[in-house]
Amino acid sequence: LEDGAEILRKHGLKMTSPRLQILRYLQKQVDHPTADEIYSALKKKHPSLSRTTVYNTLDLLREKGIVQAVLITKKEVRYELVRGQHLHFYCKVCGALIEIVGDPPDHKDQLCDHEVDEFHMYYRGTCFKCLGKRSAGVKDK
Ligand SMILES: [Zn+2]
Ligand SMILES: [Zn+2]
Repeated sequence: LEDGAEILRKHGLKMTSPRLQILRYLQKQVDHPTADEIYSALKKKHPSLSRTTVYNTLDLLREKGIVQAVLITKKEVRYELVRGQHLHFYCKVCGALIEIVGDPPDHKDQLCDHEVDEFHMYYRGTCFKCLGKRSAGVKDK
């Protein structure tokens, strides 16, 4: 895992406490939190942190390509660090976002003249827990 301070430095951003806290939180969190969830979680340890700062910092980190937004439902934007490309499976029952790794469809030729910032393709359905299955990704023989 890359150090939060190193990520900021590489992108020419000044190191500030909220930026570091948000980066560290997103490094630990794989459940794609919303800005409000990030705020509530960090607020406990850092009472001086404001909601506006969290929103502004997320906007900045997103602009710099460090963080990306996952837009699946109309009412919420979730965030994650930009790392290896992956898709998401969205459970319409419990709202879980499950990461699906592997090669996405090859659109390189059609995208070559465009500049891609974010990639929002996702699968939608019912997750294994909501279906009452024990685990995901394990096929019966
Ligand atoms: Zn579910
Ligand atoms: Zn993800």
